[in-house]
Amino acid sequence: MENPGLIPSWAWVFLGGVAVFILLSLVLNLKPASVPSQFFSFVRARARFIRPEEVEVRFKDVGDIEEVKEELWEIVEFLRDPQKFIRLGGRMPKGVLLMGPPGTGKTLLAKAIAGEAGVPFFSISGSDFVEMFVGVGAARVRDLFAQAKKHSPCIIFIDEIDAVGRHRVAGAGGGHEEREQTLNQLLVEMDGFDSQEGIIVVAATNRPDILDPALLRPGRFDRRITVPPPDLKGREAILRVHARKIQLAEDVDLTRLAKSTPGFTGADLANLLNEAAILAARSGKERVDLEDIEKAKDKILLGRERKGIIISEEEKQLAAYHEAGHALIAYLLPGMDPIYKISIIPRSHTLGVVQQLPVDERHVYSREYLLKRIMTLLGGRVAEEYVFGEASTGAGDDLEKATEIARKMVCEWGMSKRLGPLVFPQREPGYVNRNPADIRAYSEKTAQEIDEEIRRIIHRCYTKDCEILARYIKYLHLLAEALLEEETIDGETLKELLRDVEPLGDIRIDED
Ligand code: ATP
Repeated sequence: MENPGLIPSWAWVFLGGVAVFILLSLVLNLKPASVPSQFFSFVRARARFIRPEEVEVRFKDVGDIEEVKEELWEIVEFLRDPQKFIRLGGRMPKGVLLMGPPGTGKTLLAKAIAGEAGVPFFSISGSDFVEMFVGVGAARVRDLFAQAKKHSPCIIFIDEIDAVGRHRVAGAGGGHEEREQTLNQLLVEMDGFDSQEGIIVVAATNRPDILDPALLRPGRFDRRITVPPPDLKGREAILRVHARKIQLAEDVDLTRLAKSTPGFTGADLANLLNEAAILAARSGKERVDLEDIEKAKDKILLGRERKGIIISEEEKQLAAYHEAGHALIAYLLPGMDPIYKISIIPRSHTLGVVQQLPVDERHVYSREYLLKRIMTLLGGRVAEEYVFGEASTGAGDDLEKATEIARKMVCEWGMSKRLGPLVFPQREPGYVNRNPADIRAYSEKTAQEIDEEIRRIIHRCYTKDCEILARYIKYLHLLAEALLEEETIDGETLKELLRDVEPLGDIRIDED
């Protein structure tokens, strides 16, 4: 609450700023007349204001997440006719918090609420509030709500609310006075207006865990909705939404495309179709065909091709055997994800790549699967050593990933038989917050055992890879040669090349 007897701190900032500006104006020969407007705009909220008739998004433009849309429909009805709700004794939430990973459509949903309800849409990012000067953020919050009241019923959308709404004591080092004042002002404003005024604050975050609990109290963001990444059905629905704006050729099958894009968010899918449309336009096509879609997907999944980079014949050979090693191991191990593409075309960060795509979305991984994953990662290095007799730096990234999986198996998932089903928390580099659950609570001896277990897992997988590649060396050469010839091999061609391969049979990766 403000004390009317004192000058609020933002006003001091304002006055101080005016003084500095006048001084600067004199030095730089600017017109003093421009002072007040400059500073008023500084403390004004940087919200984007969209008039109702300009909000083009509707719920039909949001693919998937039907349950979320249903939950938000109530808010649309309220905004359409607040008086009707109030007459019937309804109480609306003041704040809705949309929680989910980036690109899952939180902003889109907030806009769709405004679009469906036919009300104005104010949007601002949490980071726009916070400036260097103490008090400016709070003034911006006040200004935003004042503007919104003039246009109610309306939606205020605050993206990345965690930028202002972080837990007030959790920040490393403390002393974030500006952020705290901004947050306090937001809480004051949310308490200050009555939901009957027809303002709904919708906020988005992908870090709900770090939000200040005060924000989540009743009467503030008491409606919390998770916006998850899409599953198979959801991806198809999102693709259909975006395909409405694009001329697709007959050979594009959106159901298949949805199947081959696990892990893609709504934003990724929109980007995929957009990239494909750009490629089609560039080649002067009338419609976007499968070739454009595949090229766009490769660009997103594997990185942009590095045209013009010169690689020596030896490097190309090394890359071909490295990728063939990964692919052969992945192909032979039962239960591994099918291979979508192998390529030795240099891309953003690599000289080659093997892309696997899971058949279904996996949510839990068995010990067996993880060991096979490590074997697949090590397959590149093993192939290089087997064929060329020495290792190269090309496997650095694979080794890092393999070691990380082995570490998590031992320290986080209780999968080491020797150490048992226990958790051994590791401190992150640059660790600051002293959460008691994160402090290492095991002896030096256990630490050594952990290291030994990680090493044992990696070593075991490595030895198994050596055995497998020795047995199937003929196919390693076959694949590498095909890659040197074609540069890219897709899953179907790979199956064709390996059609008479003898199954691996029962391999026991895990014997102690
Ligand atoms: P961030 O947390 O990064 O702000 P967000 O969750 O707010 O992300 P949006 O900005 O809403 O994500 O999504 C970006 C774009 O992705 C949208 O403009 C839209 O084109 C597309 N998109 C995301 N989800 C969906 C969906 N469910 N249906 C249709 N399009 C979607």
